[in-house]
Amino acid sequence: MAKHWSLPAVDALRSDGLRIADLDTSGTPGFDGAKAEGLACLAERATVLSGLQEKLYANGRSGDKRSVLLVLQGMDTAGKGGIVRHVIGSVDPQGVDHAAFGVPTEKEKHHHFLWRIRKELPGGGQLGVFDRSHYEDVLVVRVHDLVPPEVWQPRYDEINAFEKELVDEGTTLVKVAMFVSLDEQKKRLSERLERPDKYWKFNPSDIDERAFWPAYQQAYQVMLDRTSTEYAPWHVIPADRKWFARLAVTELLIAALETLELDWPAATFDIEEQKRRLAEV
Ligand code: AMP
Ligand code: MG
Repeated sequence: MAKHWSLPAVDALRSDGLRIADLDTSGTPGFDGAKAEGLACLAERATVLSGLQEKLYANGRSGDKRSVLLVLQGMDTAGKGGIVRHVIGSVDPQGVDHAAFGVPTEKEKHHHFLWRIRKELPGGGQLGVFDRSHYEDVLVVRVHDLVPPEVWQPRYDEINAFEKELVDEGTTLVKVAMFVSLDEQKKRLSERLERPDKYWKFNPSDIDERAFWPAYQQAYQVMLDRTSTEYAPWHVIPADRKWFARLAVTELLIAALETLELDWPAATFDIEEQKRRLAEV
């Protein structure tokens, strides 16, 4: 097991039976160290993650159809962008397929909610990253009544069927729901208003959304309860401590990549013959 973890992150962070209302968003479930140890582990494990991702990419280049897809969900300021920058930022960008999902365009609105998602799925050997995802269609859409209940209700089952299809086709899903407290969100939003280098992240509507916090909590709870499956489980990350959230996602990705039991692709040529040829030119 990774250093300082009393339980593997995949087990310590599993959403099963968890009530979001009871979650300590400043907790570090499964991890016994403090920030200094956490940062040291993060640096060490980023190297492991990077090595595994390179193997995934190398196998993809050799025809392996398997991929890994990280699905990031969380309220504004939960730290999704920080995961992309600091965790995904430690691997080779050639093998990363990143997509962010915002308010659907007019064209997207005319299609089934999974239409725009399918277009962004990672190919063989890729580490896909979804910054928000198809889950917005049972979160913001539900909270703000953007479509009637008879339209969003069946989406939980549709999502489960869709994800089953992905898994059967060789995609390992790593679903991560990040939670900060309402106070922590206020701190992070106020920082965005204090620092010129953060204005670009601020959206005045983020403040309006705070009034819907309980409705979002409820929508997230139903999402976890209805779409955490054996083949694509949810993980819940207390995210008040950014170092912990980043370490936790690093561990979840390492675990997912390890289940693929990747090896370096074998040479498709006679190595000795190629060495001889090279020696002659
Ligand atoms: P951000 O992640 O800060 O760039 O914000 C993206 C915004 O798009 C968030 O407010 C999301 O709630 C919103 N969004 C994402 N997907 C959908 C969707 N399917 N329907 C409506 N709003 C969405
Ligand atoms: Mg935002």
